[in-house]
Amino acid sequence: MKLNKPQLKAFKRQLLDARAKCADEIRSIAKETSKNPREASGDLSGYTVHMADMSADTYERELSMGLVSSEQEVLYQIDEALKRMDEGTYGACQQCSKPISVSRLKAVPYTAQCITCQRAQEQKAKRAR
Ligand SMILES: [Zn+2]
Repeated sequence: MKLNKPQLKAFKRQLLDARAKCADEIRSIAKETSKNPREASGDLSGYTVHMADMSADTYERELSMGLVSSEQEVLYQIDEALKRMDEGTYGACQQCSKPISVSRLKAVPYTAQCITCQRAQEQKAKRAR
């Protein structure tokens, strides 16, 4: 089943919304990471020391970095989805080229895979761990 124009338009709006939110998220995480030395440590020198030199904050920083990189990953996927929309391949699974169900697209508009391929990939990832 191919997506019709109004559906595509709605998904595009959803993607652009998600993109804006995602970019905001990255900005706010980055801001917090750079100006919030851990309060619990009581280490005031943290205010003057560059984040990269603060070992006490490594874990928290890595957590934020992880958040940023997963947000960046989403941002990348959104851009790819918008590209596919321009190319007219949006809504087709990038792996098996079968159409992705509309309900799945509604939940994750930037998804590049149908649920079957996604599950298969998750299984593979689990086994690799
Ligand atoms: Zn597939």
